[in-house]
Amino acid sequence: MIACAEHFLPGNDAEPKPHDDVVSTLSKALGVQAITTDDLEIASKDFGGLKFVKPLALIRPSTADDVARVVRAAARSPTLTVAARGNGHSINGQAMAEQGLVLDMRAMDELVRLVTIDGAPYVDVSGGALWEDVLKRCVSEFGLTPRSWTDYLSLTVGGTLSYAGVSGQAFRYGPQTSNVTELEVVTGKGETIVCSKTQSPELFFAVLGGLGQFGIITRARIVLQEAPHTVRWIRVVYSEFEEFSSDAEWLVRREEGESSFDYVEGFVLANSEDPSNGWPTLPLDPQQVFDPIHIPSSAGPVLYCLELALHYRYSDNPSHVDAVVDGLLGRLRFIKGLKFQVDIGYTEFLLRVKRDEEHARANGVWDDAPHPWLNLFVSKSNIAEFDGEVFKKILKDGVHGPILVYPLLRDKWDSRQSVVVPESEIFYIVALLRFSPAPPKGPPPQLLVEQNRQILQLCLAKAFDFKLYFPHYHSRQDWINHFGNHQWSRFVDRKTAFDPMAILAPGQKIFSRVPQPYSVTQ
Ligand code: FAD
Repeated sequence: MIACAEHFLPGNDAEPKPHDDVVSTLSKALGVQAITTDDLEIASKDFGGLKFVKPLALIRPSTADDVARVVRAAARSPTLTVAARGNGHSINGQAMAEQGLVLDMRAMDELVRLVTIDGAPYVDVSGGALWEDVLKRCVSEFGLTPRSWTDYLSLTVGGTLSYAGVSGQAFRYGPQTSNVTELEVVTGKGETIVCSKTQSPELFFAVLGGLGQFGIITRARIVLQEAPHTVRWIRVVYSEFEEFSSDAEWLVRREEGESSFDYVEGFVLANSEDPSNGWPTLPLDPQQVFDPIHIPSSAGPVLYCLELALHYRYSDNPSHVDAVVDGLLGRLRFIKGLKFQVDIGYTEFLLRVKRDEEHARANGVWDDAPHPWLNLFVSKSNIAEFDGEVFKKILKDGVHGPILVYPLLRDKWDSRQSVVVPESEIFYIVALLRFSPAPPKGPPPQLLVEQNRQILQLCLAKAFDFKLYFPHYHSRQDWINHFGNHQWSRFVDRKTAFDPMAILAPGQKIFSRVPQPYSVTQ
């Protein structure tokens, strides 16, 4: 099966040409309103602001049937590709299709339907729904909530399920891909299939973390639980990485039944008064002040912050909430005097990054600036050395945005899914969320891309056990290395089974379009 890869991989693909005939066929099939060549600008760019790739057409599907019709029409052409575009929050053009068809998944008919199975609640949502809308509808209409989130919620359900979907709840519930029980998917053959762990399981597991390679998610069934009302949101500061990481690991390894926080994240900041990289980023409300007098003289160029949250309901006794928080914090070795805490509504907590978005927009670093972000999973066995070489040296002055670092537990990730993570039982997510202004105010983005490359080179040279989250590579060998031989051959087998002409998600640059299914051309 590995040999099939030769037919999909980039390298010998001919320059694709516009296909007016296909556009006109699609127009007839879907209605003229559904196809637009006017809004190509939107589909040509993404949040990364590093790549600009013009598609042939942007299509706004309403239903899974529309999506299937588009994929089948593309299959009739020898070169057309189809990219599902969630909210375009990719960094490296992953939702783009050069001279191909881009599906604006947010146009799909709204769907937020409560389903009860054996007494347990789930919600069926469209693949193009934004997580923030899922949150608001589930909490306000049902008093229920999904369990596993991303930090920022203006992302689509289909977009995050194509990677993993990670935030401070993942230590307990796993990534978002571990919290869906059923998907409706349009495969690269244009078939619409409902799949789950027991029904078409190979497609179900392939699509989760599948980088959009095997099918377009048109509906997802998400596990729900009772929504809390309020959140105690806490930040505590460390000067020593060892203390920070061992406290974080202790918190994420709490057994079921033991008291624990509901959310555990962490980040690195510059040990300076720099407004975008240092101490001023820590307080949770404007009344709070960071007093550097508490920082020990032994502190290095960076500090570490554990970000924690405990959920509770209005009916919970406040003294019980205090006792749980104090009991847990009492076991931690953060710098006394550097603790920040607020109580806010559950929905407000989950929408916290929306406020950062408003701020970033006002400062011209959201839409108007490039975002050369780097996201990694780094094994526990290498994270201390990573700290010494990367946080304390290469990134000691910060990245003009959050540097996330917090532990995740491998046993919450299902290895049948397509996503790949390091080998170790505990690994850390590291996210460099760069928000430098565009040049001339900020550095040329190439400089930051080069810094990312330097970090990756260091991880490779030191043979760290690590994986790129949101991987993007240009050579076959890099993709094989990313997956490892076994998982790569599984990935290729899945591609052959579900998208044999490599029509889907061409922006991932893993496979190249072939005119006929491999088995037919053989
Ligand atoms: P797009 O970028 O539009 O698409 C991503 C890929 O998925 C493309 O290959 C596309 O073709 C494919 N795709 C899209 N929709 C579908 C579908 N319905 N079916 C199949 N394939 C599809 N990630 C986290 O895990 N945790 C975070 O906390 C987090 N925070 C973020 C904060 C910000 C400000 C930003 C910009 C991103 C963040 N991300 C986070 C990353 C996010 O998960 C990715 O950007 C992801 O791509 C989702 O974005 P999207 O919905 O816009 O998808």
